[in-house]
Formats: sequence, C-alpha cells, structure tokens
Amino acid sequence: MSASAEVKMQFLFTLRSKGVTDPAVLMAMERVDRAAFVKGIFADRAYQDMPLPISCGQTISQPSIVGIMTQALRISPRDKILEVGTGSGYQAAILSHLARRVYTVDRYKRLVTEAQAIFAAQDITNITTFATDGSHGLPDQAPFDRILLTAAAEDPPGTLLQQLRVGGIMVLPVGQSDAVQSLIRVTRHDSGFDYEELRPVRFVPLLEGLGAD
Ligand code: SAH
Repeated sequence: MSASAEVKMQFLFTLRSKGVTDPAVLMAMERVDRAAFVKGIFADRAYQDMPLPISCGQTISQPSIVGIMTQALRISPRDKILEVGTGSGYQAAILSHLARRVYTVDRYKRLVTEAQAIFAAQDITNITTFATDGSHGLPDQAPFDRILLTAAAEDPPGTLLQQLRVGGIMVLPVGQSDAVQSLIRVTRHDSGFDYEELRPVRFVPLLEGLGAD
C-alpha cells in the first residue's frame, strides 16, 4: 500500500528541513515510493529518515542524504548518469525521473535482479542495470554527464574520473569505511578537476570484485 498523503507531506517536510530544497529533486522524491524498495518488517519505516537493511547485508541510504546527493549532482534532463552501488534501486529510481538515462551497477547480482523487478513494476524504462564491479565504471557506455557513488572510496577512483565528460560532475563519499567520511563533488574542466567538500556522511565501503550472492 502506498503512503498516505499525510505521511508523504511529513516526509517532504523532513527532507526540506534537512537541506533538500531543489524543487525538481523534491518532486522526484515525492513520486518514488520508498516502501517498494524496503522489504518485510522494515517496510513500515520506509518514510522515516533513516537507512534500513536490505538484502546481501547492505543498506538503503537515509532519504535526506539521497536528496542531498541528488541535488549536489545538478542534473539536467538530457544527462546520462552512472550510479555505482544500486543497492535497493531507490536512488536510481529518483535519478531516472530527473535524467535521460541511468546506468546503475552493483557487485551483488541478487540486488541488481531485485531492483530490476521493482523498476519494471513502477514502469521505469530508462534504467539499465549491470552486476559488475563499478570501480572500473562502464567503459562501453562512457563518457557520463554525471557519476554518483553510493559506497565510500578512499580516493575518487581514477577510472571513474576518466569516464566523466568535460563539464561533468561526480559526487561520492570519500574516506575509510569505519570512520566518518566526506561527501565530495568533483567537477571536470578542460584542464583538470575541481574538488569541493560538501558534508560528513557514512556509507558502506566500495569493495573490489563481485559479491557472493
Ligand atoms: N544506492 C543504494 C544504496 C547503496 S548501498 C540505494 O538507493 O538503496 C551501497 C551499495 O554499493 C551496496 O549495495 C554494495 O553492494 C555496492 N557496492 C560496493 N562496492 C561496489 C563496487 N565496487 N561495485 C558496485 N557496487 C558496489
């Protein structure tokens, strides 16, 4: 069952109060039913601003952080986006309403398969999924206008920076997995990259290779 109007209104109010102010991002977040991406006993907490467990020992991110990361990407409707870390698929679904095409990858095949089923059920047709190690990006689809990592790297991966087009933006958490990390925005220029530190965050680590499931 989808959330009541009152629950959704409270959700949007919380997002705004935590700094998600871009109207297009708020509209996309209003459209995507987070409960569809959260299974079982946790589904009734889908509209609370907290991360929740999903399959394969991973987590669906806190909605206000999803909003802040989406906003930091400054997406245009014609953009082609790469997301590394599909997880539940929630973040990708929000991106899909703001951009032309979304490529999303996860190292767990099971998460990718489950997310695909939810995209299909929600009639989302502009997301392409891959079960692969996203630290190498997707060379065949590059360059990307925007790249989002939802797992923390110790440094921005060089391969991904090379897959960002000139003028493009990459947002990612940077730092050790067991410590507070920094959300970083990287902008590619003709002659190099600009780095901005946005805020402290906590994400699971970007791991090499494929997951067991
Ligand atoms: N964006 C997700 C939350 C992601 S949690 C959502 O909206 O629900 C982080 C995800 O990154 C996990 O699913 C984990 O499996 C994945 N991940 C970690 N390292 C990875 C890598 N090298 N390549 C692809 N996915 C990776």
